[in-house]
Amino acid sequence: MKLSLYSTVLSIVVGSTLAFAPSSFSTISSSPQHRNVQTEIYERKPFITGNWKLNPSTKGEAIQLATEIVKSITPDSPDVALFVPFPFIETVQTVVGDKITIGAEMVTPEMNGAFTGGTSAPMLKSIGVQWVLAGHSERRTINQESDEYINAQCLALIETDLSVILCIGETLNEFENDLAGAICAVQLKKGLQGISKEVIQAGRVAIAYEPVWAIGTGKVATPEIAQDVHFKCREILADMYGQDIADEIRILYGGSVSPDSVDGLLMKPDIDGALVGGASLSGESFGRIINFQPEVSQEQDAVVGGDEAGKKPGVVKRLAKKVKSLF
Ligand code: PEP
Repeated sequence: MKLSLYSTVLSIVVGSTLAFAPSSFSTISSSPQHRNVQTEIYERKPFITGNWKLNPSTKGEAIQLATEIVKSITPDSPDVALFVPFPFIETVQTVVGDKITIGAEMVTPEMNGAFTGGTSAPMLKSIGVQWVLAGHSERRTINQESDEYINAQCLALIETDLSVILCIGETLNEFENDLAGAICAVQLKKGLQGISKEVIQAGRVAIAYEPVWAIGTGKVATPEIAQDVHFKCREILADMYGQDIADEIRILYGGSVSPDSVDGLLMKPDIDGALVGGASLSGESFGRIINFQPEVSQEQDAVVGGDEAGKKPGVVKRLAKKVKSLF
């Protein structure tokens, strides 16, 4: 959402963020027009999502878990979605009502026909699903889903008027060889091929950056590492769709997000939410993640008011929320 009302106010304290382009991902070029936020500030509503994977084991347990999680939703909550196994979707929808969006963990790209075991986009739409995951690393590796197959899933969802979270991310080996940006570029370009600007502008696509080495391993990327890659992803999206549209796309971080790590991650300017696996299987943990606390620290408040203001784009985004509350 473009926030014109208070962008002028913010421009007083915000310089160009060019100075903060991460140096660690040299494979994709940065161009000056990409990061000029002096006159326009965008705010993306945080999107906290859980991926239950092949859990829990029974419908009763699914009801119990959903019942615990929904207690954490307040009028101030971010957008929240749970991606749950197909057999539980309608039951969990009933438990959470309109407080949480219940999505599917994958879709079959074909619309109908002789595809035993498949679940099509129209089937999901017919039971009230809006959001679906595509390209989760477990499906890329265990089920050997290629970028082309993932793109077909995305296109089927868009054609059916559904929304997609496209998951991307590099392996440990790729990360150690400074290839995170390059891998994300390939997965973004191939995964989103054929998806129009209009669809993106309608908010029907989100990206989840999930470094494979951080999923289910307990190794969460530091906020700085995650921010560097998110920044790079937004640059890639700007190359594909233009900066204005790239600034509207929510990019979530996934990979061992926990109550302990969420606050630091969500403080970063290009981290717009989280895709949470293990911690979404506990009402208490996921509730804390939903209610993350990205408060500007005293130190950062001081920075905003000082000479270093332009060096803290993360503060800018959070400051935007504070300024908004003044009107
Ligand atoms: C995931 O399943 O997308 C995920 C990030 O899992 P975890 O939080 O357990 O690493």
